[in-house]
Amino acid sequence: MSHTQQQIQAEAHRLYGLLANVSKTKTAKWTLEDCLAAAPYTLAINQAKQEKNAVILAHSYTTPDIVYGVADFRGDSFQLAQQAQKSNADIILFAGVWFMAQTAKIINPQKQVIIPAGHAGCTLADSMTGEDVQKLRAKHPGVAALCYINSSAEVKAQCDVCVTSGNVFNIAQKMPGTELIFVPDMLMAQNIEIELKKRGTPKKIIASGGSCCVHDKYRPEHVEQLRAQYPGIVVLAHPECAPEVCALCDYVGSTKGMADFVAQSSHTQFGLLTEGGLVNRLEAEHPDKQFVWPFGTCSYMKKNTLINTLQALLDPRPDQVVQVEPALAQAAQKSIQKMFELAL
Ligand code: SF4
Repeated sequence: MSHTQQQIQAEAHRLYGLLANVSKTKTAKWTLEDCLAAAPYTLAINQAKQEKNAVILAHSYTTPDIVYGVADFRGDSFQLAQQAQKSNADIILFAGVWFMAQTAKIINPQKQVIIPAGHAGCTLADSMTGEDVQKLRAKHPGVAALCYINSSAEVKAQCDVCVTSGNVFNIAQKMPGTELIFVPDMLMAQNIEIELKKRGTPKKIIASGGSCCVHDKYRPEHVEQLRAQYPGIVVLAHPECAPEVCALCDYVGSTKGMADFVAQSSHTQFGLLTEGGLVNRLEAEHPDKQFVWPFGTCSYMKKNTLINTLQALLDPRPDQVVQVEPALAQAAQKSIQKMFELAL
């Protein structure tokens, strides 16, 4: 597993070619020395990946050394769920948080799914239990229930359709009836109600749950400050942000939606109200554009490191191996399958 100095140097230069424009901290970019420190790990991980026929899926909010050093696929939860479904690998290593790895296991029950960060939480997924959904549904009989993908298998199992930030508005619009239950993102629920009204298909959204501890911190004054400091800046936000913030932005969409928007835009300066990992991806992929990011880091996502990725690949601890009880997986899979059908 050890590599020569020459191989390490070559790998460091490969990484530096990808990361030279990427911020490592608020004030510093990735340096060649940073890449030299990462190179022995990325080489070892890429070698172990081949030997074990593993595929690495990395959420855009994980660190750039994972996203560009070792990941086979990078993206948001929906893109990665699709990749998990298509994968021929024996092992899926999911650099993300627990509910994402659990979703990959639900749609790939025959594969081993491992997550370096172990039971990494998420303030949305941890805000509701399956029992909470059962009680909510009992209060509103006959009302269809949607769950955001940022939820546990137990919550998914109690809902009719799972949605992501990329397809939530279209799927909510397609659902029959004038009322919908939506869990567990209270802010996204408000954004759905507003968007459906705009589209001329209003529905009352019955919401329960919590919020994303990253996106719920943005306030209208952050948008105003960006516009005052950078005249002409284009401001993008995630629909996990509060509606009063979204209302002031030029574009509101999923991680993929924001990336596509930047790629297609002729503008060169963007304000991003989202997690720093996406900012890093856009810096890497659009060195000709400038990104201004007020703040926002998900500590759960950052629990994935090159060190625990290598360790999990070579010898995973029990808490890094995702297990979902078959009956629960089957019930949760129905809502995920329904999403794949309705998202077409
Ligand atoms: S960024 Fe927010 S929604 Fe995403 S994993 Fe972190 S806490 Fe959960």
